[in-house]
Amino acid sequence: MSEPTDRYAAAEDAHLRSLTAAEADGDERTIEAALRPRSLDEVVGQSRVRAQLGLVLEAARRRGRAPDHVLLSGPPGLGKTTLAMIIAHEMGVPLRLTSGPAITHAGDLAAILSGLNEGDVLFVDEIHRMSRPAEEMLYMAMEDFRVDVVIGKGPGATSIPLDIPPFTLVGATTRAGLLPGPLRDRFGFTAHLEFYEPDDLDRILHRSAGLLDVPITTEGSAEIASRSRGTPRIANRLLRRVRDFAQVHADGVVTLPVAREALELYEVDESGLDRLDRAVVDVLCRRFAGGPVGVSTLAVAVGEERETVEEVAEPFLVRSGLLARTPRGRVATPAAWQHLGLAVPPSAAPGPADATLFED
Ligand code: ADP
Repeated sequence: MSEPTDRYAAAEDAHLRSLTAAEADGDERTIEAALRPRSLDEVVGQSRVRAQLGLVLEAARRRGRAPDHVLLSGPPGLGKTTLAMIIAHEMGVPLRLTSGPAITHAGDLAAILSGLNEGDVLFVDEIHRMSRPAEEMLYMAMEDFRVDVVIGKGPGATSIPLDIPPFTLVGATTRAGLLPGPLRDRFGFTAHLEFYEPDDLDRILHRSAGLLDVPITTEGSAEIASRSRGTPRIANRLLRRVRDFAQVHADGVVTLPVAREALELYEVDESGLDRLDRAVVDVLCRRFAGGPVGVSTLAVAVGEERETVEEVAEPFLVRSGLLARTPRGRVATPAAWQHLGLAVPPSAAPGPADATLFED
């Protein structure tokens, strides 16, 4: 993880304090490593992506070549890093990890690429945040396995072509819409990860509870699953917090009443909405009469960074059918008014059918 030097990173940091933040912090990564599925067979849900990716990997194995470059998009916490690790594991090759914000100069990327061995998997998280010159270098590396390293500055600068061994790039992004076309086109396989259904989260929770040795009942698990915002990372985190509660206030078993009481204490409501989500819906309805309102204005009104509202709260609110993105701005759906216990005004947006009208 890079230093929080820019606004986005600062926003991420602020949100990490929240229990339902979809990003992981330092300690959490260690725990996550223990919970990560290691093979495609162990991955719960995402059946289409699993089947497609399985085919890509099997075909590459039969050809005896590195698989095509893979782009994984979707909100944080849905399994992009996990899948990158699985790709390397299934191909029996090492994984090199880096992230877009860590690559500030083309030279950073050249150093990483020239250190790769044939067949390696290079995982670039948040690939949409890579610097432009590095991005341009990546085009050539992905297509021709070659980079031009520029030595010197000004008129005397010379560029030296450098061959790099065939490798597989796995890019992850929360914002596929922000990737320039030429970069997107160079990925042979693109997968969009969807939020998980409660049944899948329930299976993930049982698996994690087993690995963490946490006794859990069917109802306890279902309750946590339904409040996990469709996100495995959040499900696993809520499980650990409910386990704490169970150990301190009960006999250690995660039952339905224990889960309910614990999640109430942590301010995660029945639909999985946390304080930020609720603030966004509240401000949208009460202060802006249901919108349309620009995302920046919304962010200021809830005292958060625009990126946090856009990338963390919004995707879940759209999916929950509470908020719609339209070309004129964000609008509250009738369900949003109902969620707040307010009467739906006649002017309220038509509903979630409009939710995909406008992306990014
Ligand atoms: P991302 O890179 O998209 O932010 P990660 O791959 O780091 O998400 O996943 C976060 C955590 O959620 C992982 O530790 C893993 O335990 C869990 N997880 C994600 N996807 C799955 C899945 N399909 N099945 C089981 N666990 C999952």
